[in-house]
Amino acid sequence: GGDESGKIGLQGLVVRNTGNAYLVRDDNGNDIIGIAKGNLRLKGIRSTSPIVVGDRVFMDPNPDGTAFITDIAERKNYIVRKASNLSKHAHILAANIDLAFLCVTVSYPETTTVFIDRFLTTAEAYSVPVCLIFNKIDLYDEEESEYLNALMHLYSTIGYQCLRTSTVTGEGKGQLEALAEGKTVLLAGHSGVGKSSIVNLLVGDQAQKVREISGYHHKGMHTTTFSEMIELENGGFLIDTPGIKGFGTIDMSRAEVSHYFPEIFRISKNCKYNSCLHLNEPGCAVLEAVENHYISESRYHSYLNILEDIEEGKYRL
Ligand code: GDP
Ligand code: ZN
Repeated sequence: GGDESGKIGLQGLVVRNTGNAYLVRDDNGNDIIGIAKGNLRLKGIRSTSPIVVGDRVFMDPNPDGTAFITDIAERKNYIVRKASNLSKHAHILAANIDLAFLCVTVSYPETTTVFIDRFLTTAEAYSVPVCLIFNKIDLYDEEESEYLNALMHLYSTIGYQCLRTSTVTGEGKGQLEALAEGKTVLLAGHSGVGKSSIVNLLVGDQAQKVREISGYHHKGMHTTTFSEMIELENGGFLIDTPGIKGFGTIDMSRAEVSHYFPEIFRISKNCKYNSCLHLNEPGCAVLEAVENHYISESRYHSYLNILEDIEEGKYRL
């Protein structure tokens, strides 16, 4: 009946995690302070925080305007902090990412293709689209610009969207905004590539305010419990969280790796053996394609690099 609909079925998006409570944007656009119920089921996922930003939650409103969070919708993906040696459990920082901006600089600092390819692999495994953001284009000399163009050509040919940006000149701002519209967007990339500057470019002073409210200054003390989504005017959200390892926590077999290199996977269908790992097998179409430069050497190198890690039991997505 009509009475029930007000009480039950209130749903929303967790936009801030303060460690004690959650700020939830309900589907009518209202902000609600959400409090986790003690017996909240964790969907089999261990984490330092039962609920993370990006979670869709179900709530039971209280008379004082707060609400108990009674359940979490199944996560389509989640980002994980680099695992510490002490703990086997992943620290989940955010969930339900629609798009990742992988921020890349060819220098100041240099982003290696191995780093790019490892990130792309984990994103492929969790079906998270990635846009490569080549930032600091105002800084590059001719040689660096040429290298950047080569990288853009390589990755756009494989099928990844690429964008040139400068937070100094503002180049690319409109395209960044258009890409993020209505989405939850993860900012990823090495420290120093310009992620915070991109946030500031898109939201200006507001970002600083959000950080102060959300306890960003407690960094170092409680980094694993505090996180935030920064709201854009067009309904998008940015997540700028340091220390991201990748999406999810599944183990990957050696045979699976090529599935997450789209151009290698396409060609591997022509390999003589179904079980081909594209190392030195006879009739390997991938090796032939590397020789003929249809597959880039740097991509193949990253592929081998990941296979080696799996051999040593190191690689987890
Ligand atoms: P983060 O660690 O990825 O968040 O990187 P920051 O946003 O803190 O940026 C690191 C440094 O690079 C800062 O000194 C920024 O001012 C600078 N920076 C960021 N974007 C650009 C850019 O497009 N051009 C130039 N020249 N400097 C930039
Ligand atoms: Zn092969």
